[in-house]
Amino acid sequence: MAEDAGAPKAGCLVDLKGQTALVTGASRGIGRAIAVKLAACGARVVGVARTLEAMQGTKDAILAAGGEFEGFAADVAKAEDVKRVVDEVEAKYQKIHVLVNNAGITKDGLMLRMEDDAWDQVVDVNLKGTFLWCRAVGAVMMRGRYGRIVNISSVSGIRGNPGQANYSASKAGVIGFSQTIARELASRGITVNVVAPGFITTDMTDVLPDKIKAEVKERIPLKRLGAPEDIAEMVAFFSGPASSYVTGQVVTVDGGMTV
Ligand code: NAP
Repeated sequence: MAEDAGAPKAGCLVDLKGQTALVTGASRGIGRAIAVKLAACGARVVGVARTLEAMQGTKDAILAAGGEFEGFAADVAKAEDVKRVVDEVEAKYQKIHVLVNNAGITKDGLMLRMEDDAWDQVVDVNLKGTFLWCRAVGAVMMRGRYGRIVNISSVSGIRGNPGQANYSASKAGVIGFSQTIARELASRGITVNVVAPGFITTDMTDVLPDKIKAEVKERIPLKRLGAPEDIAEMVAFFSGPASSYVTGQVVTVDGGMTV
């Protein structure tokens, strides 16, 4: 793919051997790349998506590379699903070292015409979902006195984006939420950081017309659309021991789009 030229290749400098990493939205796009990356760094990856079937490709890729993966079907916005998965993972593996809240959706439309449902669904999955997993996994990390939480926001949550009032609000919410819990959890050795992707080629952006994609690419100083692996690299850094003195930070990975 032309857009991927220059994107990072396999391999990992971050050592996650013996660690358990839970990644939501692990079936495709950015979540799949994060799951594959963390597994390549040595972590046992627990993936979450709405169905197990959707995560088969992720599982195959990780197992083929000699990694470990276990999938759980859950709706990230349902507290009972979150509790079921976290209880089972804790019972099985005792500790959860890394949590990546990546699952997300868009339901775009101009604010004046936006239906309540489009607002509620996006805020529920993107913001409430992030809260529910942080609360449940945060408790497990507190008991282990160690943790790395990485929440996926968006440049839309920093700058806003016409047609995405619901999405931008949810992603801006993820930033404020993460900065707050970074302060609350710091004394227990838990860091919380945010990665804000720019335009990344996944199913989420595939729906946009080629003309728009070409215009966006033109506006990006590095002159390529992002690949899921670009995001996975930054997530791996925040997931590992080398980022131990970094918390409450937001890093945009956008090819310079917001400079
Ligand atoms: P994607 O290709 O559409 O994948 C979304 C993932 O979220 C899928 O794995 C999906 O799983 C999961 N998901 C959605 N709703 C869920 C729910 N209720 N319960 C469980 N899982 C759910 O999206 P992407 O582009 O990789 O985006 C990943 C993250 O990056 C999102 O938070 C997105 O907002 C953010 N982001 C993306 C871009 C971009 O340009 N692509 C830019 C900025 C930020 P199933 O559908 O299989 O259940």
